[in-house]
Amino acid sequence: MINKAAELIRESSNPVVFSGAGMSRESGMRTFRGEEGLWKEYSPEQLSSISGLRADPELVWSWYRMRLIAGKNVVPHPGYYALTYLQEQKGHLPVITQNVDGLHRQAGQTDVMELHGSMRTASCIDKCGFSVHLTSELLRADPPVCPDCGAILRPDIVLFGEPLPPETISRSYELAEGCDLMIVIGTSVQVWPAAGIPFAALEGGAVIIEINPVQTELPHSDNVISIRRKAGEILPVLTGFKEKR
Ligand SMILES: [Zn+2]
Repeated sequence: MINKAAELIRESSNPVVFSGAGMSRESGMRTFRGEEGLWKEYSPEQLSSISGLRADPELVWSWYRMRLIAGKNVVPHPGYYALTYLQEQKGHLPVITQNVDGLHRQAGQTDVMELHGSMRTASCIDKCGFSVHLTSELLRADPPVCPDCGAILRPDIVLFGEPLPPETISRSYELAEGCDLMIVIGTSVQVWPAAGIPFAALEGGAVIIEINPVQTELPHSDNVISIRRKAGEILPVLTGFKEKR
């Protein structure tokens, strides 16, 4: 199975990557939902929506500050660098991700579609056009405000009740329908509309290589190869990437 998957990757002329939370978790990125105190005390609407942010910006920013600090020392695992290596080999490798941590970009991937936005930047809640890379200096302000108009800043992630960015979604579906191989990593394929992306690839005639230690919603089919391993271990093997030591 692993040899077959490696051969498919070698021979693919138009591969696309689709990644979810499992990819990040392997790097030690925590997924706070359910386990962290603030989630128990406050609802998702209070902590992660535009109305919650306007109602209590100090509370909401203290929550993001905690998440950002927790993620500060997280670095991409070898699976990410294997994808960067594959991007170099193929000349181009679009990545569609449900993750907001920016680890694909940090590892050198250049064509990354972030379906749920990015924790790395923030912008003006009143849409005056101001946008900024989230620095620790900026995070010290409580809450951080827009230097242009004085409104509060919002993290550039898709918040509760907001739609996924339409252009990112439509380009992702286009890529899925047009690819010959989709590498699906660390996603349970449960949350729509993102979950439809691998199914669009299958309908378009692509083969799927799925990398996930646990069972997912993807169908059993001749066109789906499921490898129940960690991405950080198996992606270097599948792509022929040798870690620099
Ligand atoms: Zn502004």
